[in-house]
Amino acid sequence: MTQYNKWIEIDLDAIKNNLQQVQSGLENGIRLIAVIKNNAYGQGALESARVLYQNGVSFFAVSYLGEALELKQSGIKGNIMLLTPLLSEDEYTEAIKNNITLTIASLKDWEKVCYFSTRLRMLTTIHLKIETGLGRFGFSNAEEIFKLLKEPYEEEYVYIEGIYTHMAQAQNERYTQKQFSLFEHTCEKLEEAGRHIPIKHCANSTVFIKYPYLHLDAVRIGTLLTGQYPAGKLPHVLELKDPYKYKCRIISLKNLKKGSKIGYNSTYKIKKDAQIAVIPVGYCDGLALEVANPPSGFVDMLKLLGKSVFRYLNIPQFNFNVKIRGQYFPIKGKVFMQMALVEIPKKVFVQVGDEVEVPIKKTLTSESELRLYISKSQAGKKSHGSSVNYLIEGE
Ligand SMILES: *Cc1c(COP(=O)(O)O)cnc(C)c1O
Repeated sequence: MTQYNKWIEIDLDAIKNNLQQVQSGLENGIRLIAVIKNNAYGQGALESARVLYQNGVSFFAVSYLGEALELKQSGIKGNIMLLTPLLSEDEYTEAIKNNITLTIASLKDWEKVCYFSTRLRMLTTIHLKIETGLGRFGFSNAEEIFKLLKEPYEEEYVYIEGIYTHMAQAQNERYTQKQFSLFEHTCEKLEEAGRHIPIKHCANSTVFIKYPYLHLDAVRIGTLLTGQYPAGKLPHVLELKDPYKYKCRIISLKNLKKGSKIGYNSTYKIKKDAQIAVIPVGYCDGLALEVANPPSGFVDMLKLLGKSVFRYLNIPQFNFNVKIRGQYFPIKGKVFMQMALVEIPKKVFVQVGDEVEVPIKKTLTSESELRLYISKSQAGKKSHGSSVNYLIEGE
């Protein structure tokens, strides 16, 4: 067996549990589109798709063609839908040949899907995307869609199965209502014109929980399947389980005296004699990285400032803690590129080689990195009942 010193453990039973929780909140006949973009938010798209499919999901969504093809080529059954428009002729050809459901968000997209489907003589299923307030992409109104439906393009090879929009701030009921009204209006206009589109959808995880009347014909769920609640205040009505554990082993252990300084710039001084454990996890793994989005409001800004101040003052609640032998210990000093230091009281028994659970944001791992560990996982995968371990690239 390969000895490796960092890995990700995914508990497939937890994914199944989360799915069942979501399904229990769905009325009969409403479809679940499982969003497994960005490698199922870091949990492994292939393994997730397999478990979900075995438990009744037959509709998946990802952002990019590469992700969809990987699922297809790995034998994942069910519909696979793209949430972004395609770019090049090659992409259209590849997508159509592989029977991938496409998002059509503009007249240009429509022209291309008609053109390439006709040329290949293959039926392409599409969903129309309506832009109602997120500012990403989509048609602005029914008139824009009528324009395309009147264009002299051969529609014989294109099936409009769905129409959808995406909410910008689902926590805000007024804004969500406004977006929904625009969407509904567009759908109604199309119905009046004799265009019945069978699957209408607008619900992500927040909408799913907060507004059951917006489940419509299908819901698109990602976050809840990963065992997390979306950001913001939401009633915790589902019993979710986190399938994801990032683990590593202590690679070095040293006793240091009270007053010793550790890390670059010596930002931390040890207050009592302690053991310092080195773990092989650092910035490159996403440890201690924060998303640098602008604060969403004044309170949010104060929170961010507060966090920095409290970290500076070494307030224990704001530590990054790792778990070793069932106990939590803080990461201290500056995090290194590929390593970090953990302070452990002198009396506690730990050893080099001990397992360490590290709090790393799963979505931080980039798509390309994820692909590496996924492909490596084929060789390095160990099965423990119903969990899988992913070997991390480079080990
Ligand atoms: C990511 C995404 C979702 C899933 O959203 P969650 O809040 O994670 O459930 C749904 N729809 C679209 C268009 C998305 O991009």
